[in-house]
Amino acid sequence: MDTGTGGRWSGDDNRRVAKRRTRRAGGDESGRPCPCGAGPAYEECCGALHQGRTVAATAEALMRSRFTAYAVGDPGYLLRTWHSRTRPARLALDPADRWTRLDILDTERGGLFDTAGIVEFRAHYRHSGRPGELHERSRFGREDGQWRYLDAG
Ligand SMILES: [Zn+2]
Repeated sequence: MDTGTGGRWSGDDNRRVAKRRTRRAGGDESGRPCPCGAGPAYEECCGALHQGRTVAATAEALMRSRFTAYAVGDPGYLLRTWHSRTRPARLALDPADRWTRLDILDTERGGLFDTAGIVEFRAHYRHSGRPGELHERSRFGREDGQWRYLDAG
């Protein structure tokens, strides 16, 4: 599925050095709805995964937490949740991107007792203020029992 934004999340073609983003990292997210749109505050939602207090039970939960990692600027979490088979050596987030909203369109398997899953989503962003969206059908698999992002299918 070609959306014209291929490679945006691949990690390979982004060699720009990300400016350190302190703006939204850390504690000042507390109390605000999580960027993934699931409803709870960041700390109770994807923040719990980012901080290692819990793990994603489903592929969709991992997908949401990875979107939120892009939104809050946490490349370390993105690399930790990337399957070792497809993980880029490094990942620099583009500071001109601001991820604003996630719509989950479809899921296939990816549940508690599955070992593979697919999550189709539309992620909305603004790049230097210009709106855009990324539409992807992501594949997920388990590694050491935990859900990991594989690729765009
Ligand atoms: Zn969340």
